[in-house]
Amino acid sequence: MAATRPFAPSDADLSRCVHCGLCLQHCPTYTETGLETESPRGRLYLIRAIAEERIEPTPGALAHLDLCLQCRNCEAVCPSGVPYGRIMESARAGVLAGGRAPLAWRLRALFLRQVIARPGRMAALAAILRLYRASGLRAPAERLPFLGERLLLAPTVSGRPFRGRGVLAQPRGPACRQARRVGLLTGCIMPYAFGRVHEATVRVLARNGFEVVAPPGQGCCGALHAHAGDRAAAQALARRNVDALLDAGIDAVVLNSAGCGSTMKEYGELLADDGEYAAKAERLAGLVRDVSELLAALPFEPPGGRVEATVTYQDACHLAHAQRIKDAPRSILAAVPGLRLVEMEQADRCCGSAGIYSLAHREMSLALLDAKMRAIAATGAEVIAAANPGCMAQLEAGLRRHRMRGRVVHVVELLDQAYRQAERGGS
Ligand code: SF4
Ligand code: SF4
Repeated sequence: MAATRPFAPSDADLSRCVHCGLCLQHCPTYTETGLETESPRGRLYLIRAIAEERIEPTPGALAHLDLCLQCRNCEAVCPSGVPYGRIMESARAGVLAGGRAPLAWRLRALFLRQVIARPGRMAALAAILRLYRASGLRAPAERLPFLGERLLLAPTVSGRPFRGRGVLAQPRGPACRQARRVGLLTGCIMPYAFGRVHEATVRVLARNGFEVVAPPGQGCCGALHAHAGDRAAAQALARRNVDALLDAGIDAVVLNSAGCGSTMKEYGELLADDGEYAAKAERLAGLVRDVSELLAALPFEPPGGRVEATVTYQDACHLAHAQRIKDAPRSILAAVPGLRLVEMEQADRCCGSAGIYSLAHREMSLALLDAKMRAIAATGAEVIAAANPGCMAQLEAGLRRHRMRGRVVHVVELLDQAYRQAERGGS
């Protein structure tokens, strides 16, 4: 059994907070509630008090930790470099491992372990969601009192699931002389809810000179497990991916899911005390790239086709705040001829998705979603571009909830659309 680090935030991390409060206005739960207990600073106080056993981890105290979206906006703006994401994950892990977690936390961890991390069960869940979508019941069900708002946030499963393994595409186009080999992390939910995004990603990468493979043996990245405090499950999933991806002879691991990319870039930290895996995890983490990050650094082949659309871009929290990538997706959108990018107000404010947060904290999630949809409506955009499946599902729910016209796409899909349009037009 591999060694693991203690499940508690470190004193060194906690003591970095100087209580300046500069993060408060950037925290969605604080700006929604106006409560210090729902702010980063308040939560840090609380975590410290629990860690020092000055207060008990009562359900009331833990509810404040649970309402945190883990969007890491506070971390991105903190002048003291407080590693808030790491602290919150460790705090939740400490509570869960200490046996004091509320029933809802334990059920969530059980669901993540027993369903999300298991491909067979995930496929069965996706089949149920696909049937629900195809039955025509969704629209009337979402209008039902009480139940409707809950059903609204279930992800849309339609289209062909992405089942690619092994070599997915050979390099082609003018850039194929670069001939680098990249591995696509296909993930747990993405293949069912957004298989089309994987397909677009593969085409775009091939077009930019990459051989694209999906190494067998890979699986869920463990992000949801880590966020929920189930560090042991996240570590087990990370080890599996380290084995599968490091053996694949790839130059980079490419992700089109910001949450997965953020967690995989932190695999070194997640497995730091594992004697067998620490160095390998660090090495794999160094290979991880968001697809927009990889393309923007090339530079990518300018698309010859046009996408005539007004587009607004929603920053995914785990891309903008955790990975600090804001320019790369915008540079891709700006390169697409015909595309008019209109920035929304507070594009980097969480949309309320936050993994499975939208299911656990419906009220807060919907309040953030409603604010987001108002900001989107003000842009007049008919296309919402995003870089994370959770955001995409949430924004699609927002369009339905607000009876708004429009579509939600991944950034890479727009680039793909422009490439394909040029191919069809022979340019
Ligand atoms: S987390 Fe950072 S920004 Fe927020 S109060 Fe502490 S030191 Fe200030
Ligand atoms: S992670 Fe997001 S929700 Fe949580 S305290 Fe920081 S800014 Fe607020």
